[in-house]
Amino acid sequence: MIRKLTESIVVVGEGGSSNTTIVSGKTCLVIVDTSLFPEKALKIRKFSQEIFGKPIGLVINTHYHPDHTFGNSAFEDVNIVSSKLTREFMEQMDRDYIVNIWGEEIAKKNHVSLPNTTFEEKLSLNECGVKMKLCNLGGHTPDSTIVFLERQGILIAGDLIFNGYHLEITDDSNIEDWKNALNILRDLSPFFVVPGHGETGGIDLIKSTKDYLIRIEAFAEGRISKEELISDRNFSDRDFPELFVYSVENIFKILARF
Ligand SMILES: [Zn+2]
Repeated sequence: MIRKLTESIVVVGEGGSSNTTIVSGKTCLVIVDTSLFPEKALKIRKFSQEIFGKPIGLVINTHYHPDHTFGNSAFEDVNIVSSKLTREFMEQMDRDYIVNIWGEEIAKKNHVSLPNTTFEEKLSLNECGVKMKLCNLGGHTPDSTIVFLERQGILIAGDLIFNGYHLEITDDSNIEDWKNALNILRDLSPFFVVPGHGETGGIDLIKSTKDYLIRIEAFAEGRISKEELISDRNFSDRDFPELFVYSVENIFKILARF
């Protein structure tokens, strides 16, 4: 699905796959997240250049997960920015990891391009005439980074926000950091929130994501029953139930560490 948020911002994402955001500046385009496959990323690149008639000036990865970074090679002639942690996590991915994600056929013909510019915690950028703030907040993963376009009131939240799909809680998620990150996002008062997966919405997506985390944590800690959890429409209305099972398994692992 392709959604035009404003005259200069388009979000591409379908069927729960990760969103790619295209921001058109005065002179060039900024792309946030590159999808799972180089072939798809190349199509997004061509589409972006066709609709806006400008070259790509900058690419940003919100975190290391393959569905946000494995299309990087379609943009390896331009500057790819991420947090330092994102690059470090990507450097650790060996061939087995990549084959496991792509399969042998795709892995044979493609490679994963690493970000070439990194920052520690925060970075203010003015690229292509687009002013944006990047901040590594952690939570979903230790390197989870947001991109905030303050002037336009647009928050590109990566996987700190899911809309219409169960949250992906991985074994390196930190629920406390995630909830704190969501408080910070709420205080930015964005008009549009672009989630990592699902349709773009408003500030209410921040609240529903936080409520989800609070409820799943209460369930994992035995404070609410399965029935209570499932009767909550913030749970039952979301797609990808298999992701819910995966997330519950991981939240048990996370809690076991304390
Ligand atoms: Zn992710």
